[in-house]
Amino acid sequence: MISSIGRNFPDLRVLDGTLAGAVRFAVTTRDGGASTGVFESGNLADHVGDLPAAVADNRASLTRHLGAERGLAVIAAEHGASSKWVHEPGIYGQVDALVTDVAGLGIVALGADCAVIGIGATRGNGSSVAGVAHCGWRGLVLDVVASLVEQIESAGGRNLQAVLGPTICGSCYLVDESRAQQVVQACTPGVARAAVRASTEVGCYQLDVRAGVKQRLVELGVHVRYEYPCTAEDDRWFSYRSAANRFGPAAQTGRHGLGVVIGAADAGESGDAGESG
Ligand SMILES: [Zn+2]
Repeated sequence: MISSIGRNFPDLRVLDGTLAGAVRFAVTTRDGGASTGVFESGNLADHVGDLPAAVADNRASLTRHLGAERGLAVIAAEHGASSKWVHEPGIYGQVDALVTDVAGLGIVALGADCAVIGIGATRGNGSSVAGVAHCGWRGLVLDVVASLVEQIESAGGRNLQAVLGPTICGSCYLVDESRAQQVVQACTPGVARAAVRASTEVGCYQLDVRAGVKQRLVELGVHVRYEYPCTAEDDRWFSYRSAANRFGPAAQTGRHGLGVVIGAADAGESGDAGESG
């Protein structure tokens, strides 16, 4: 058992807001957490080499910010397209999206360039449904966004509203022709146009994961209510690409998170995130 004596009591800096129904979200930043070194300071991932006690403190801080009295269900992403319905806290592997209708259960996606997406929806009986997903270029190819949206809608969710968390943009993510072609061939024409652009570097393409995910959400009828900046351009967030540019491909970095929770029906007038309209 780990003693809390002498430990930090971090208060992660988060940006938050409200989605449809009683669904609230929080986007964590690097600031205010317990981690040090390359994980400074808000790292939420336990698979990247950070101290478990620091990660636990940071997750506890996110739990408090969300008001998630039933705890957190966290995606251990595998870059697939599976979506899972959850009722309990825990770490969920072999999925890239989680959906719940349990009030007070925070569901969390982690990222460091890949898109982190939160959705809130209402149901006919007045209750809410919440979902989160993690989506990089493979997620675009496999269409994890559609998996998430379909699971919410099959549970009766309507009036879907999304927050698109900090995600790498095309200017900051160059890929080779084969990866660009995979995205073009697998995605809808609209997503392919939004996500893949020629680069001035010979043989390279810009892959705009953020624009691709946003386009896919719009195509599926989801209102993108909040958007956050590019991870590689804004040092409030972790970016694997930035770390790799500085320290090489073996560079370590942390993960920020996007959590959503179903609160009490009348909760949540806060919101310091910029609405994107
Ligand atoms: Zn960028």
